[in-house]
Parts: sequence; C-alpha cells; structure tokens
Amino acid sequence: MFKKDFPYFQNSKTVYLDNGATTQKPKSVIDSQVEYYETYCANTHRSNFGHANKATQEFEKTRVLLKEFINASKNEEIIFTKGVTESLNFIASSFAKDFKTVIISSLEHHSNITPWHMQGRSLGNGLEVVSCNDNLDFDLEHFEELLKANPNAFVSITHVSNAFGKIHDIKTIAKLAHEYGAIIMIDGAQSLAHFKVDVQDLDVDFFAISGHKTFAPTGVGAIYVKEKYLKDVKAYQTGGATIQEVDYNHSTLLDSPYKFEAGTQNIAGVIGFGKALEYLNYVKYENIESIEKNVFKFLDEELAKLPGIVFYNDTKDCIGSRSFNFEGIVHDDIGILIDKMNVAVRVGHHCAQPIMKKLGIRGTIRVSVAFYNDYVDVDKLIEALKKALSMLKD
Ligand code: PMP
Repeated sequence: MFKKDFPYFQNSKTVYLDNGATTQKPKSVIDSQVEYYETYCANTHRSNFGHANKATQEFEKTRVLLKEFINASKNEEIIFTKGVTESLNFIASSFAKDFKTVIISSLEHHSNITPWHMQGRSLGNGLEVVSCNDNLDFDLEHFEELLKANPNAFVSITHVSNAFGKIHDIKTIAKLAHEYGAIIMIDGAQSLAHFKVDVQDLDVDFFAISGHKTFAPTGVGAIYVKEKYLKDVKAYQTGGATIQEVDYNHSTLLDSPYKFEAGTQNIAGVIGFGKALEYLNYVKYENIESIEKNVFKFLDEELAKLPGIVFYNDTKDCIGSRSFNFEGIVHDDIGILIDKMNVAVRVGHHCAQPIMKKLGIRGTIRVSVAFYNDYVDVDKLIEALKKALSMLKD
C-alpha cells in the first residue's frame, strides 16, 4: 500500500527484505536532498545570509520534530550524530568512560560491545553481560543480581535485537536499573521503524537513534540525553561551531546541543531525517503495527511449512525480523541463491557474533520487514527459499 511512495520499488524488481540493515527512502526524503543541494546549499549556524539561514532553520526543524517524535522534553536533549554507532561511542567515551561497571545484554550489536572493549573492559573486568534463556529472553533476575553486586553501574542495552527481533522490556529494565542507582542508555536502532518510542514514559537516560533505519538518509542519527545529565556529558570532539570563545590558552564551549555537534554536520541528512519523521507521522504507527502484524502472521505460517527450518526464539515479543537456518544447509548458500532470484535478505552473524557463538552457530538467514512489505513479497520469498532448498538438497 505504501510502496508507491518509495521510488526504489518503481525502479527495482528486488523483493527487499533487509530493512534491519537499512530502510528504503520515501520520495519526500529523496526530494529534500536534491532541493537542499540544488536550491539553498549553505552551511548552518555560521553565516547570516538568506540560504544559510534557511539551511539552519530546516536543520533545526528536524530537532524539534525528533524531540516531539520521541517525546523528549527539550530541544537541547536531541544531539545529532552519524547514527547509532556514533551515538553509543560518544556516550561510552565521554559520560560512561569512568563508570566502574558497564552492564549490557546478551543480544547486543557489536556497536554496543566494541566501544567497551576499547576502554580495556572485558567480562568480569568492568563489563558484565545479562544472560538470556534458551528463548533469548532477558534474565531480569540475573540483571538484578548484577545491579546489586555493582551499584551505580552504567547499563547499555538494545531495545530490539537486530539479529533475532527480540524486544527488551525497557520500561521494566530502566525502572530496576534506577532503583539500584544505575544510569541507562538504550540502543534504539531497530525501534523507531516499527513502534512509538516515548523516552519519558520509558524513563531512560540516553537513547540512541539511527536515521537510515528509520527511512532517512544514511550518515545521520541522534542521541537523546535526559536534561539532568546534559551538564555532565563531556564533548568527545570539539571544533567549529561548538565554542563560545577561544584564545591560545583556553576555549569555552556553547551549551547543548551545539557543543556536541562539532564541525559541519550532515546538513542534507538531518533535513532528510525531518522529512522521514514527517512521513512517519503521515503513515502513523497504528498502520505500521497492523500491516506488520499481518505480514508477519503470513510469513510465520509459510516459514513453518518449510522442511528442516530451525528457529532460535519464539515470535512472542519479537518485532521487525525473523532469523532462522535450515538443518544441514549453510545459510550463505541460501543467501547467494535467493539473491539470483531477486530476493534480498541478510545472511550471516548480523554484527552479533557473541550471541551466535552462544547458540553454536555462525549465523542465520534474517528476513527483516518494514511496513511497505506485503503478502506478495512473502510469496516471492517463500518461492525462492523453496527453490534454493531443492537445489541444495539435490
Ligand atoms: N545497533 C543495532 C541493534 C543495529 O541494528 C545497528 C545497525 N545494524 C546499529 C546498532 C548500528 O547503527 P548505525 O548504522 O546507525 O550506526
């Protein structure tokens, strides 16, 4: 129903089911890039002529839109970054650097693991991992034990697992974390494309956002920082547009968000991000949720009929993707074969090697859906999987 809004689907026959990696962009987002570069290309927050002012206004409009979109309380709480990876690295290397203990979940993407390793942390040595059961459910009891044993920890947890679609109950996790004096950051890379996020309702302290996984251009994202922590977050890079005054001995920084947005920003990307949010406001989450529910119902029924299929978790508390293997078949081979049939899914470890190792596998076949996918896409996927399976079994 919404494919008509996405030029990619007019230009390509590909059945696109790799939305967990990146989403397609609606025409309004693409047009905004051309419009900026062709009609008012100028830098923001510096010069004071017409196009520079327009660029600044459009850029700042996205901040207000994003603040409203996730129900932050102040514009200053929204800091633009390149994406979730930069958001997590920023907070890890500034605010969270000196915390004695960092607690993560078993289902983290590498971008919420490697920044902690770069600080010399390892399991039991400044880094703790909350275990999960055989269904990949977050172990709340273990989490509480870790919080008790490590008071005032920094908790950094993914909202939705990109590898298995598992949703973490962030409201409960954040409440528990706060009860033990911990501060909590959420990797929201896989949330906003599928459901409403309200940072005040979740009561999280930091929330990392990816533009390109939310129908916006690549190279743009944000970090929400709860107002009460803004003064304690140190800028991890400084330079142009971050300062109040500089002499050869000293510099004073501006207030948030500007002190955190060093150098020329991805201006077109941020403007495009605003258009993506406007588009999502037009589509509405209630429609997204009902479309995805129906598509997943059909997908689950059809996948279950395929011989030898192996899942690693049930579909309860799962959103955005299904991850599986076929007994005796290498997942990469399926990926190569169905690509020849114009079906795009991701095969591999999905940047989540630790959980793959825990499961004793190298990776999975991941089908990740967005609201523009439909029953026809599922039919084509299933047909391609059947053909690939029969070729590989011969
Ligand atoms: N965390 C998760 C859960 C992800 O799925 C991804 C992207 N695959 C990232 C972090 C990195 O996000 P970005 O591409 O915005 O840096």
